[in-house]
Amino acid sequence: MIYKIKFTHCKYIMKQNSNSSKKSKTKFVFVVGGVLSGLGKGIVTSSIGAILKAGGYSVTAVKIDPYINLDAGTMRPTEHGEVYVTDDGGEIDQDLGNYERFLSVHIPKRNNITTGQVYLSVIEKERQLKYNGRDVEVIPDIVNEVKKRILECTNGYEFTLVEVGGTSGDIENLVFLHAVRELSREYPSINVMVTYLPYLKNVNELKTKPTQHAMSKLREVGIFPDFVVARSEIGIDKPRRWIISKRCFIDEEYIIDNPDLESIYTLPLLFEKQEFAEKILSKFGMKKDIDLLEWKKYSNKLRNATKELKIALIGKYVSHGKTEHADVYLSVLESIKHACAHKGIRPKIVQIQSTRFEEEPADAVLKGFDGAIVTGGFGSSGIEGKITAIKYLRENNMPFLGLCLGMQLAVVEYARNVCNMGGAHTTEVDPETRYPVIDILPEQKELLKNKKYGATMRLGACLAVLKKGTIVSKLYCAEEVFERHRHRYEVNPEYIEELEENGIVFSGSSPDRRLMEFMELPAHKFFVATQAHPEFKSAPLNPHPLFVGLVKACLK
Ligand code: GLN
Repeated sequence: MIYKIKFTHCKYIMKQNSNSSKKSKTKFVFVVGGVLSGLGKGIVTSSIGAILKAGGYSVTAVKIDPYINLDAGTMRPTEHGEVYVTDDGGEIDQDLGNYERFLSVHIPKRNNITTGQVYLSVIEKERQLKYNGRDVEVIPDIVNEVKKRILECTNGYEFTLVEVGGTSGDIENLVFLHAVRELSREYPSINVMVTYLPYLKNVNELKTKPTQHAMSKLREVGIFPDFVVARSEIGIDKPRRWIISKRCFIDEEYIIDNPDLESIYTLPLLFEKQEFAEKILSKFGMKKDIDLLEWKKYSNKLRNATKELKIALIGKYVSHGKTEHADVYLSVLESIKHACAHKGIRPKIVQIQSTRFEEEPADAVLKGFDGAIVTGGFGSSGIEGKITAIKYLRENNMPFLGLCLGMQLAVVEYARNVCNMGGAHTTEVDPETRYPVIDILPEQKELLKNKKYGATMRLGACLAVLKKGTIVSKLYCAEEVFERHRHRYEVNPEYIEELEENGIVFSGSSPDRRLMEFMELPAHKFFVATQAHPEFKSAPLNPHPLFVGLVKACLK
């Protein structure tokens, strides 16, 4: 058994990061993008973190998002992808999830800096006369605010990775690049440019011209990369390495190859084949052995996995024109992969738009699957489809894991079909239902009435007390757990007794028993659901017990 989930309370994290008045002793690794976005800069940043951590260093990571929004909380998942939730309740860009998964640390919300946050605090300070009545300007005031925010994240860490979103040449990230340039001069730092080499079939070669242009754009703002990480479909070859070296003024050995990989979790190993950590350390005049044993074990498991499990991920935000969204349920997808690798299994995950269950019979849609996850979500579309799917999974003894809305709808389904409460619903979808088994949290009612949507849900790590002897407590091997939350509705306390009398076991609740956090059906092969989002705490080297539980049940 290797799942040792360390549930850390947010207060601990805040303490670690306070006291930023002294000059930071951290070393910076700045990661900036060239050519185009969506290259996996976050995975590169995370993997650099993993290899430095494997040298025994303490590492943290900061993500800069050049948008005006204060956070990702109010963004549509179909537009922005998953909204990641931190222990301290941040609704954040999904790259923070990658950092946590690769570094096995909990990262606080302040490590996500957006243009909106920076301007808001500068304007607030201006209103408080903190600039003594002088002109407040982009340079130096906005840049200084960015630097201050980055430095606040560094306390106690030997290395701070800073990933700047967007690509060189964007108007939006210019102030952030200026801040990077200044910090690079003031602190021991290196700069890494992640670029893309498009492969042109007709000439059968990788093209370097976009990289050359991106590099000159970076030099315009005074950033001279120490490393180029070259993303490509097929991997860089000698002639292209030579051209980049000559045209971008960078030694060949500092050009790191990063082709498409079957699993992102093998990138730290690929980096180390190229001695990336040693090269970074030598730039700081340092030397250390890098021990990637745990990552090697993980990659061996992936390589040796032969048996396949077919798992359905039933969600509301799956379709995207002709293609499928790849990152709306990113953490759920990754959690399934972590648990499967842990059990030596190759997962075949199929994302199913829940409305399909409103059009086709459930047995046709779920034929051939070993188990299913019903994900979180908001609003009324696709809800009946999810309820139909849950009913099928329950009645056919198929392994089921419900996440947040997935748990709420499992309660609705049970109330309707087992407890004889026809038309039972969540008041989020049907405010007039006769049986409001899921209802809004009292404190949330006021907030919605006053249109306070941003950062107002029940957010972040909350303590749950687990009932002894339940499936959930056995999986966690614990009596108390911290899991992350993001919701406004809950199991209506007025119905708990009746639901329990009819067979639902609420296996975990808030310490005052007011909020039901986990439920299960003991007679079922595996029917477990939680009001929380356990997917935000799973890591490749530390798979989450609920997902491991689901995979084990699917194997039976
Ligand atoms: N919409 C539901 C609520 O707000 C569930 C939220 C979620 O799945 N994250 O409670």
